[in-house]
Amino acid sequence: MGFADRYLSAVNSSNLRDDDQHRSTDALCAAAVADTAGAGFGALLSRVKYADGTQHKLFESGSANLASLLRIWTARVIEKGRERKWVKEGTAWDAQAAHKLYRSVAERSLAYWLDGKCEACGGSGVKARCLCAPCKGTGKGEITGTGGFELERVKDMVSELENLLQSHNSRAAASLR
Ligand SMILES: [Zn+2]
Repeated sequence: MGFADRYLSAVNSSNLRDDDQHRSTDALCAAAVADTAGAGFGALLSRVKYADGTQHKLFESGSANLASLLRIWTARVIEKGRERKWVKEGTAWDAQAAHKLYRSVAERSLAYWLDGKCEACGGSGVKARCLCAPCKGTGKGEITGTGGFELERVKDMVSELENLLQSHNSRAAASLR
């Protein structure tokens, strides 16, 4: 099987757990890493965010695209975290704590980026024909369940996702010209 085929079968697989699928997932990760400009990853981001519809439900049920996306994204967050020296990984204990942080930041940033709507107005920015007070009309919710150092890293990674999607979109638009 060629690389593109393995890539596609990984994207389309509904179960990433058994051995065969593990190999598929490796292909996915390889694609994401090989494509440092983020073209493949950007396409996946775009597909999960817009094409799959009800993102929130999908996140909870863990659809195949989303599982792949989370896997790749976690790998990328680990890369970024190490690059930016979020935490020391001197001892085994440090490394374990660091890994926990990377995973949590990856999960929270992806979930928020996919569905970080203001609960009061459902993301519309308007409530009872007025500007929604909790979000001040932005329609964006708060990142909950974390704070301090981790929260800052989550925000960082949310804008990273936004940038990846935007560069994917402008590349896609340019290729249509
Ligand atoms: Zn609101």
